[in-house]
Amino acid sequence: MKRIAQQSRSNMLTARIRADERLTDGGNHALNFINTQRRNRKGSLYDLLDNFGDFLYWCQQTGLITWERYMELELESRCHEEEARMAFGTLRTARTTLDEIFVSLMKREEVYPLWLERLNDYVDRVRPHLHYDNGVNGLQQYWRDIDEQISFPFWLIINEACSLINSGRWRQVKQCPVCKQLFLDTSRAGNRTWCSPQTCGSIKKSQRYYKLKVA
Ligand SMILES: [Zn+2]
Repeated sequence: MKRIAQQSRSNMLTARIRADERLTDGGNHALNFINTQRRNRKGSLYDLLDNFGDFLYWCQQTGLITWERYMELELESRCHEEEARMAFGTLRTARTTLDEIFVSLMKREEVYPLWLERLNDYVDRVRPHLHYDNGVNGLQQYWRDIDEQISFPFWLIINEACSLINSGRWRQVKQCPVCKQLFLDTSRAGNRTWCSPQTCGSIKKSQRYYKLKVA
């Protein structure tokens, strides 16, 4: 029975993700994660994730973790419900923190000390799980001690956020004026306005066309 409930909830989440694909298309997993909660242009708040199970499923559907890893962590989270509930609390706080940091960076404002303190705390948690070793392309960074760790997807997200900050690519982060989601402008000219020209871009263009017709 629990399995069936789990299955139908997963199907519902798949439908929601598909219906709102723009929310998970920021071009970077850290931005995609922030986009799971945003205010739309009417000002109402929406959240794609209701619990840790939703988060794990979202991780798998957006390609952050493999299906095998999803199955392993899903089982782990069901065996340790309290741990999963606490992990989901951390994730929600981290999402707000990352949102505040990238919005401050986008506005070229200093990041508030509370958000910095939290980011540094998250980095401290990730660091013991990263190490360098010889790989096929020379020295490479690898993950370690990640099996059955329900926080592993969270570490991946923090690591992607750090890469954006360290590489200076945070300068490419923009906010779509239509759906308010954050995205990475990777266009050569750096002049992308909307998260997607097919969705928000076309809405904006048709609005402009309508105004032109009325005038
Ligand atoms: Zn958009």
